[in-house]
Amino acid sequence: VPNKPVIDRALCQYFKNGKCRACEKFCGPGAINFEDKDRVEEYEVGTIILSTGYDLMDATTISEYGYKRYPNVFTSLEFERIVNSSGPTGGKIQTRDGREPRSIGILHCIGSRDKNYCEYCSRVCCMYALKFAHLVKEKVRDCEVYDFYIDMRCFGKGYEEFYKRLLHEGVNFIRGKVAEITDAALDPSEEGKLILRAEDTMIGVVRRVPVDMVVLCLAMVAKPEARTLSHLFSCSVGKDGFFTEKHPKLAPVSTATDGIYIAGACQGPKDIPDTVAQAGAAAAQVLSLIQRGEVETEAVTAAIVEELCSGCQICVGLCPYGAITYNKEKNKTAINEALCKGCGTCVAACPSGAAYQKHFRDQQIYAEIQGILAI
Ligand SMILES: Cc1cc2nc3c(=O)[nH]c(=O)nc-3n(C[C@H](O)[C@H](O)[C@H](O)COP(=O)(O)OP(=O)(O)OC[C@H]3O[C@@H](n4cnc5c(N)ncnc54)[C@H](O)[C@@H]3O)c2cc1C
Repeated sequence: VPNKPVIDRALCQYFKNGKCRACEKFCGPGAINFEDKDRVEEYEVGTIILSTGYDLMDATTISEYGYKRYPNVFTSLEFERIVNSSGPTGGKIQTRDGREPRSIGILHCIGSRDKNYCEYCSRVCCMYALKFAHLVKEKVRDCEVYDFYIDMRCFGKGYEEFYKRLLHEGVNFIRGKVAEITDAALDPSEEGKLILRAEDTMIGVVRRVPVDMVVLCLAMVAKPEARTLSHLFSCSVGKDGFFTEKHPKLAPVSTATDGIYIAGACQGPKDIPDTVAQAGAAAAQVLSLIQRGEVETEAVTAAIVEELCSGCQICVGLCPYGAITYNKEKNKTAINEALCKGCGTCVAACPSGAAYQKHFRDQQIYAEIQGILAI
C-alpha cells in the first residue's frame, strides 16, 4: 500500500528473537498486526508501466580497486547514504573508523565506457560525482577532493555552470583513469592512506595521490530479473539487459506489446529529470487509452481452428508477442487478438494446419494468384 510503513522482517526484533512488539504498544490507532500474513493479490488491468529501475555493477569484479579489501573504498550508493542526513552517519562524512577524512578521491567511469565491463556511458555519474565533491567541500573543512575523470559530461541545463563553480571551490580535477588503488606506502606521507595511481593525461605524468577515502562511481546496469520480466510481459531487452523501446525516436516509452510501457532507468541509464519526463509520457499514453475506452486491434490477426488443433503447443513458444495461450483441459491453443500482430509465425509453423491468418487463407491467396494469372 503506498505511503504506509511495512515491517522489515529481517530487522524486526520480534520476528528475529520473538521479543519486543514495542511499536504495537505505542501505536495509538492500533494499526500493528503481527499475525497478518503475506498474500498474493490479483488485479485485472488494461495497461502496465514497467519502471523497475537499475542496479549498480558489482564493485568486487574490478579487483584493482580493492572494494571490500580496503574498508575505506566505498561505492557511490554507499557514499550517497553517508552524505544523506537520514543516512547511517546522519549526513556526517567519515571513514569506517569514524575519522573525518582529510582527502577523498572520487573516481568516475568505473565499469562504464569500458569494453571489459559496460561499453555505454552511465550518464549520471559525472553529475553526482560533482554533487559529492561539492558536498564534501561544504561539510568537511579543509578536505582535499581529487576527481579522476575521463571526459566531463555535463550535458544538462545548468550542469556546465555547476562544474565551473566547483573549479572555483578548489576541487582538484585530474584527467586520467585510476589504474590501481593500493595501501603500500612508499614514503611516510603515504602511511595509513589509500594511494591512487593514475596517469594525468593533461601533463603526461603518472601520479600517486594518497587519500583517506575513495568513492567508486560505478556503472548503472540492468537488473538481472529484467530478462524474466521481459518474458512475462512479452517485451524485449537489449544486449545490455535494459528494456528496449518500440522506436528510439518515435515511440520511446512504448514496447512491442500494446498496453505495456516503460519508464526510467529500466530502459537505460538516466537521471531523475529524464526519468520523471519519461514517466509522465508513459502515464499520458496510458491515460489516452483509458480515455478512449476501447482499442482498435489489427485487422489481420491469426486464428486457430479448434477442431484441427492437436495441442502440440509449437505456436505458443514461437509467438513473439505472447499472444497464444494453451488450454490444458481442452488440449487446444487460442489466440488473444488484442496481442496478436499478425506476423504469421504461428501460421507457418502449425503442423496440423489449424492456425490461419485472417484475410490470407490459402483459398484467398490461390484466388488472388489465379486472378493475376488470368490477366
Ligand atoms: C549514487 C547515485 C547518485 C545519484 N544521484 C542523482 C542525483 O543527484 N540526481 C539525479 O537526477 N539522479 C541521480 N541518480 C540517478 C537516479 O538514481 C536515477 O535516475 C533514478 O533512481 C531512476 O529512477 P527509476 O524509478 O527508474 O529507478 P529506481 O530508482 O531504481 O526505482 C525502481 C523501483 O522499482 C522497484 N522494483 C524493481 N523491480 C520490481 C518488481 N519486480 N516489482 C515491484 N517493484 C520493483 C525497486 O525496488 C525500486 O523501488 C543517482 C544514481 C546513483 C547511483
